[in-house]
Amino acid sequence: MDTDEFRKFGKIAIDYLANYLDTIRQRTVLPDVEPGYLQKCLPESAPQTGEHWSEIFAELEKFVVPGLTHWHSPSFHAYIPTANSFAGIVGELMMAGIGGITTTWDSNPASVELELKMMDWLVKMLNLPEHFLNTSDGMGGGCIQNSASESTLLALQTAKRRLMDLSKEDTLGQKLVAYTSDQSNSSVEKAALLASIVIRLLPTDTNGCLRGEVLKKSINEDKEKGFVPCCVIATFGTTGICSFDNVEELAEICRSESIWLHIDAAYAGTALVCPEYRYLMRGIDKVDSFNFNPHKWMRVNSDCSALWFKDTTYVEKLTSCEKVGSNPDDIPNIHLWQIPNCRRFRALKLWFVLRIQGVEGLRAHVRKQVGLANYFVELVKSDERFEVCTSNLGVITFRLKGPDGPTKLLLDKIREGRKIFVMPYCHLNKFMIRFVVCSSFTEKPDIDNSWRHIEDLANNIEYSKEE
Ligand code: PLP
Repeated sequence: MDTDEFRKFGKIAIDYLANYLDTIRQRTVLPDVEPGYLQKCLPESAPQTGEHWSEIFAELEKFVVPGLTHWHSPSFHAYIPTANSFAGIVGELMMAGIGGITTTWDSNPASVELELKMMDWLVKMLNLPEHFLNTSDGMGGGCIQNSASESTLLALQTAKRRLMDLSKEDTLGQKLVAYTSDQSNSSVEKAALLASIVIRLLPTDTNGCLRGEVLKKSINEDKEKGFVPCCVIATFGTTGICSFDNVEELAEICRSESIWLHIDAAYAGTALVCPEYRYLMRGIDKVDSFNFNPHKWMRVNSDCSALWFKDTTYVEKLTSCEKVGSNPDDIPNIHLWQIPNCRRFRALKLWFVLRIQGVEGLRAHVRKQVGLANYFVELVKSDERFEVCTSNLGVITFRLKGPDGPTKLLLDKIREGRKIFVMPYCHLNKFMIRFVVCSSFTEKPDIDNSWRHIEDLANNIEYSKEE
């Protein structure tokens, strides 16, 4: 393929995506396929000789698209938002096209410097502590990671490395323990497994919040048993009900016990762009590391996960080895603040999105989606058969009043219909349906349609409030 052909190929691809997104509302959000369906459609091996791209587009439409879950459909209310924007798509295309990867500054000066700058822009946009700035006088700073999962793993490993320094002992011989809440994302438990650290999933209060006294009690019990507390991973916006741990109380304990405090704000971190949500983050100035995913709610297409350290000394100690080079003075060694050796030029797509949206555009996006979530809450409340269980930012849980059975049945019917995609959730021993405003294409009439669909299905369910 030459560049003339590439122009045609690329233009067709952009047209294809524009059509796909223009028709996203008409597509059934969940596919109707059986496990293994695609395995049967595609050849067993790669073609011996190259094929024309037009044939691939034809097969994409015929075989792949029918098996897609349309994550950007306005009827997608499952998991958590995964960002999409035209700026993000073009940014992703540009970074792929310019290509290249980055290790040290020498390998790609613009990539390193744009990343340093974008991370500082984010600090200022979210009103994070100044010590996270790459341009701060201290040892703090941040860079872009692949995922929140990797960020948590890196924070845990760094906490372990710091402990080794403080206790002047090899952590291998110690029974290290970390703490998180029973509401935290499964990636936290996975990170602890990978880091070979015991993890305690601590109970939360009725709002799904991890409180200081619970942490303190668990630490004391562990110390008596000979464990060495190493790290606390608090969540700012849990996946299930978007609850917020009490960072201020946890930070106080971590400080007195000399324990690393990491914040996982994967989804809700973006809300900090709006001043009205910053009260949720009291104590942020005391945390050791903070992570959120612009690829969840900040309109930057996956992947783009931002991680900051208050002091990068320990992460550099963790990852430094002889063969890894270093940057010129005044340029932080961000290649040492991550697991891969090389990094993609993700700062480019972040730059595209931040410039095209602007801070006000991103605030408007968050406020619009929270507004739609609140509108959905009002709809649920207007039907006396239902109760709203939780509502935080864009994440709502609700159920039919009374025993769990009818709500379970309703969820089964919703899933069978495939018209909207919602998930189950259990909290305080109650079965609930979890509804999230995810797609940036969602408008009020879409929320009306989703709710009407739920109500219609509920009309066919035998229902009693009594056990
Ligand atoms: N943390 C929270 C609170 C999440 O909601 C999620 C995913 O939904 C994750 C972590 C995992 O994020 P990632 O896929 O970037 O690892």
